[in-house]
This record gives sequence, structure tokens and C-alpha cells, in this order.
Amino acid sequence: MRTKKWYDYLWIWSIIYFAMGFFNILFAWLGMIDFLLPLLIAVFGKSKWFCNHLCGRGQLFALLGGKLKLSRNKPTPKWMVSKWFRYSFLLFFMTMFGNMVFQTWLVASGTAGLREAIKLLWTIRVPWGWTYTAGAVSPWIAQFSFGFYGLMLTSLIIGLAVMLLYKPRSWCTFCPMGTMTQGICRLENRRDNIERAQS
Ligand code: SF4
Repeated sequence: MRTKKWYDYLWIWSIIYFAMGFFNILFAWLGMIDFLLPLLIAVFGKSKWFCNHLCGRGQLFALLGGKLKLSRNKPTPKWMVSKWFRYSFLLFFMTMFGNMVFQTWLVASGTAGLREAIKLLWTIRVPWGWTYTAGAVSPWIAQFSFGFYGLMLTSLIIGLAVMLLYKPRSWCTFCPMGTMTQGICRLENRRDNIERAQS
């Protein structure tokens, strides 16, 4: 059996991250690490090392669904693994991310006021004001936190739902970060092959 490494426990970080968002919404910014690191590793390392070793969320689904047997463990539906669904979901997710950045810009420019709420599943507005003290930071910094935390919580809820229904890591088949890193790695490897063929 392989000896455990420090990064095998990153599922704990995932729990801590979501818990912190219940106390101070500004901690939501730390989620940008999970957003940027996979992309950086894919671009410069040409690998999915983040997915395979560093993703606390993937580990959490594996733990809950696998070890704790909370998953029905049914096969992930074919449509969920299909290219059209993965890329459509990525497009949808990035559109929502772009909308969240736009809302942040509106607040930064003074066109809109700070909304101390998060949106779950892109539709349900949940008041979340107790996690923020007005004036603690610039309103746009707080707006981004509310928006980003809502997005992170939404993807966690979807991931947990598919974990319960299908294989523990079914979320990984259409996770936007996984789709993006896979696309980057493919492009990088294709470029390497072309360069090798030309040299
Ligand atoms: S596909 Fe997404 S959730 Fe799964 S390991 Fe990769 S980044 Fe994490």
C-alpha cells in the first residue's frame, strides 16, 4: 500500500474552505487557488497533476461516496460523460462566471450596490449578510466573494448530488476545471508532437 502524502488530506481543506464561508465571506477568495492552480499546472506542467493529486473536492467525493459508501455507485450516465455535455456545461459555467465578474465590475464602478447574498444553483438567492461587516473592504472585493462563494457552493451541491446518484467522482467527468485542464493538456501535447516531428 502506498504511504500517504500530505496532499492526500486535501479533502480537509475543502471542508474548511466551505465552513469558513459561513463565518467570513472574504475567505471565498482563497477558492481562486483551486481555480488558477489546475490551469497553471496544465499549461506549464502539461499534466492533470492537480486533478490526480491536489484536488480536495475530488478527494472529498471519493471519500464520501467510496469509503463512507454514501454513493449508490451506479454507472455515470453516458450523456454526462459525452463531449457535447462537458463542453456545454463548461460554456454555461464560464458564462455564469463572467456574469459574476460583471456584477463585481458594476459594484466597483458604483453602478450597482453591494448585494450581501449568494445565489445557489444560479437561481435561489440566499441572504448571507452575517458573514460580512460593512466597510471592512472595498464593496467590489466583498461582491466578488459573495458571487464566487455562491458559484463554489453551487458546484459542490451538483457534485454531491451526482456523487449520491452515480459513481462517487461523477462530477469529475464534467467539472469545468477538469474539462479545461484536459483541453489544455491535449493542445500542449499535440504541439509537442508537431515540434518533435519537425525537428
Ligand atoms: S475534475 Fe474537477 S473536481 Fe475532479 S479532480 Fe479535477 S478539478 Fe477536482
